[in-house]
Amino acid sequence: MTQTISHVLLDIEGTTCPVSFVSGTLFPYAARELGPYLERHHHNEIVQSHVLAVIEAWRQESDPQARELWNQARERVSDEAGASATNQFRGSAIEPYLQWLIAADRKFTPLKELQGMVWAEGYARGELVGDLFEEVPDILRDWHQQGLVLAVYSSGSIAAQKLLYGHSQAGDLGPLFSHWFDTHSGGKHEVDSYKRICATMGVEPQQVLFISDSEAELQAAATAQLQVVLSDRDHTQPPEQQTRIQDSTTPPVPKGRHSITNLGQLKLNAAPFKN
Ligand SMILES: [Mg+2]
Repeated sequence: MTQTISHVLLDIEGTTCPVSFVSGTLFPYAARELGPYLERHHHNEIVQSHVLAVIEAWRQESDPQARELWNQARERVSDEAGASATNQFRGSAIEPYLQWLIAADRKFTPLKELQGMVWAEGYARGELVGDLFEEVPDILRDWHQQGLVLAVYSSGSIAAQKLLYGHSQAGDLGPLFSHWFDTHSGGKHEVDSYKRICATMGVEPQQVLFISDSEAELQAAATAQLQVVLSDRDHTQPPEQQTRIQDSTTPPVPKGRHSITNLGQLKLNAAPFKN
């Protein structure tokens, strides 16, 4: 088995970006700005189609709490079915249900789409800046320069991934990446997802290094024959303990995974990718 690497597949949260940026900045921003955004953009056709889908879901909601919110909202606007209801419920009238969905952690595609649109505007306005770990931009540029093919695999949508890297503290890093994968490629704990991703990139799994802070994800990727390294940001490790994974004469780390606290600790033996 070759130990050379041609592709690096990167998780985002806990690997290139603090988990706190997503949970403490991005999601609160979307929750706060959804209402004002809907008010500003209620003439936008895409917004309207999402609003309609939200109304339909709300109308059919069986949860008592959400039904109560629905009844309260209906008292404020006349209850007309179909497209006319969009006008009645325009803008932030659907906000109580959206906030309820967020609080209930319901996965609902129109909500996810609207959150993405709110983030896109926030990044464009400079109110949001993709907060990558300090060394990440330079390391990514360095790997790209070495000829490594860089790819993202995150449970956040591809649109959200591109926004984060496109508006990072070091500017637009999007062009450094050749491939973007989200859960449309399958769950991150599933072996087949990693096989599928390698097939899409047209590369043997052994030539791909996957880096993540999740042991379950690494286990699935390792089973699919990818090389794996654990991003263990909270672990304190002496700086001289560099992880060398390219050199087959270097004995493997005795127990557990290769692990790093910083992407700069990886010294990769890049093998230019021949397609
Ligand atoms: Mg992660």
